[in-house]
Amino acid sequence: MTTQTQAEKPKKSRIIIPGTQYHRVRKTVQTICFIIFVTLPLFDIMRIDLPRQRFYFFGAELWISEFSIVFLTLMFMWILIAAMAMIYGRFWCGYLCPQMIFSETANGLEKRIIRFVNKRMPNASPLSRRIAAALLFSLVLLPASVFVTFVFVSYFVPPVDLFHRLLSLDMRTAGGIVGASVTLVTFLDFALLRERFCTAICPYGYLQNMLKDKHTLLVHFHDPNDECINCSKCVRACPMGIDIRKSSHQLECTHCAECIDACSGILGKLGAHTLIQYAWGDSGAKAAAEGNWFSRIGLRDGKRVAVLVLLLVYATGLSIAISVRQPVLLRIMPDRITLYSVAPDGQVHNRFRMLASNRGHIQATVSLSVADLKGASIEEIEDRKVLQPGETLQQHFDVVVPSSSLRPGINRIRILADVTPGKTGQQFSETFFAPEDPLQTRDIKK
Ligand code: SF4
Ligand code: SF4
Repeated sequence: MTTQTQAEKPKKSRIIIPGTQYHRVRKTVQTICFIIFVTLPLFDIMRIDLPRQRFYFFGAELWISEFSIVFLTLMFMWILIAAMAMIYGRFWCGYLCPQMIFSETANGLEKRIIRFVNKRMPNASPLSRRIAAALLFSLVLLPASVFVTFVFVSYFVPPVDLFHRLLSLDMRTAGGIVGASVTLVTFLDFALLRERFCTAICPYGYLQNMLKDKHTLLVHFHDPNDECINCSKCVRACPMGIDIRKSSHQLECTHCAECIDACSGILGKLGAHTLIQYAWGDSGAKAAAEGNWFSRIGLRDGKRVAVLVLLLVYATGLSIAISVRQPVLLRIMPDRITLYSVAPDGQVHNRFRMLASNRGHIQATVSLSVADLKGASIEEIEDRKVLQPGETLQQHFDVVVPSSSLRPGINRIRILADVTPGKTGQQFSETFFAPEDPLQTRDIKK
């Protein structure tokens, strides 16, 4: 009975993978990446403002002086890039990299323009058609290069400033010259280099080679049954012009998967599976779909788990550092040019310096008071100081204490600060100097 059931069981039909599977996914991901690339600097979501020395990170305006947060952010980004290269190989290159996105767009645009020119100039010589196509391509590429440069430079310069410079065709200031130079480099890159940039210049390809190991995701040719029909469609489809059948570890391979689509397209018509596919290292094609869920998403050994844990530690540290960050940075320092002075009314003065930086987006106020010495007050400072967003205020002020409240020599005080918005009741422990002789009335210079 069992034998009969097994015999009657319909044979599992082979799944024919359509030849555009990864191409479509890639184009969708690349479109999303392009939108993110443009949005991040224009809306201050993530950019480094070099003139103002600010670092915008998902709503937080960090000052370059905030070393701990900048350090955690850089470490987090670095580990993220390293982890992605180690686990997913050149996924960044094939799916996310702006250079690759614009190179492929330039390729597509050039092909369309050549088709357009050939259609419109059927009787022209091939040379004339090539020149016309090159001119037309340059005409389209130039404004596109200006736009890409504008977005790229916006990661380092406020976009509004940049826009005004662009409108005035600023070529005299350093910013204008840098913008024009980057535009020229961008134009030449997409006119002449494109994918060649990935193998000739970009350091990430070399870095990836250093970080990959036997479990790293790669594009793998696997033909144990000698099914390859040598159609070379995978070679013709490869934007880098390589033959994946020779090796899965070629430096030029960006893991874009165009060869997978090409092979599945051609062998699919013959009712067979693709011979090229994503695989975790050289373990073979089958490995991509084997194992438990964390193995299937690439966590295939302890090293990867350790990197993920490290990434989580930095992400947690960064979240905590940003969440406890005060919008107003306040520092109080004693000004010891004059150790103390005694006023005619017998009150003793000690001078201090307040440094307040408003790192938030709204106005802030600072209010100071003194504790621990009876009758102590603050002079030469307004009771409430208003700071505009981005403003740094330096203010000298005196702490004034009746001599009757003081011991000769060193006294301890606390300067209390209420900051709005931010932390109320900030305390600064300071030293207050009083004359050794309480009757002394002259200023003592240090
Ligand atoms: S070999 Fe395949 S995955 Fe590698 S670059 Fe060429 S088409 Fe892309
Ligand atoms: S597309 Fe597939 S079948 Fe054709 S040559 Fe490449 S690997 Fe062989």
